[in-house]
Amino acid sequence: MSTSEFTVNKFMEFLSKRKIMAAKCKKCGTVNLPPRPICKKCRGSELEWVELNGKGKLVTFSVVYVPPTPLVAEGYGREKPYAFGVVDLGQDAKITARLTGFDVEKPESIRLGVNVEAEFLERNGRVILAFKPA
Ligand SMILES: [Zn+2]
Repeated sequence: MSTSEFTVNKFMEFLSKRKIMAAKCKKCGTVNLPPRPICKKCRGSELEWVELNGKGKLVTFSVVYVPPTPLVAEGYGREKPYAFGVVDLGQDAKITARLTGFDVEKPESIRLGVNVEAEFLERNGRVILAFKPA
């Protein structure tokens, strides 16, 4: 039975303390994000927690248009539209997160490769990871 601590649940626990933690492979140095018990590159199981500084580059994004209805998903209520992006935090660590501070009404204004930094949003008592222009 697996008793690995390198789980997404643990990641979320760190996130609630405003830390972005990843599982770094002791064998090959790959930073696994989201954390996983087995290294994605070399399948090694010797991992250690490392804290990322939250600075990265925008790799790709998509804009989500929320229909005007009061029955909206928890955490994303009454804002429209919003954007999600993939951010490269270096050392092979990429994560999908909400984007803030970009003009999502003009997606063509969002440049791939721009520097972004982490921001921690609080919604309904939960901390949500987002990235804004650095
Ligand atoms: Zn590895």
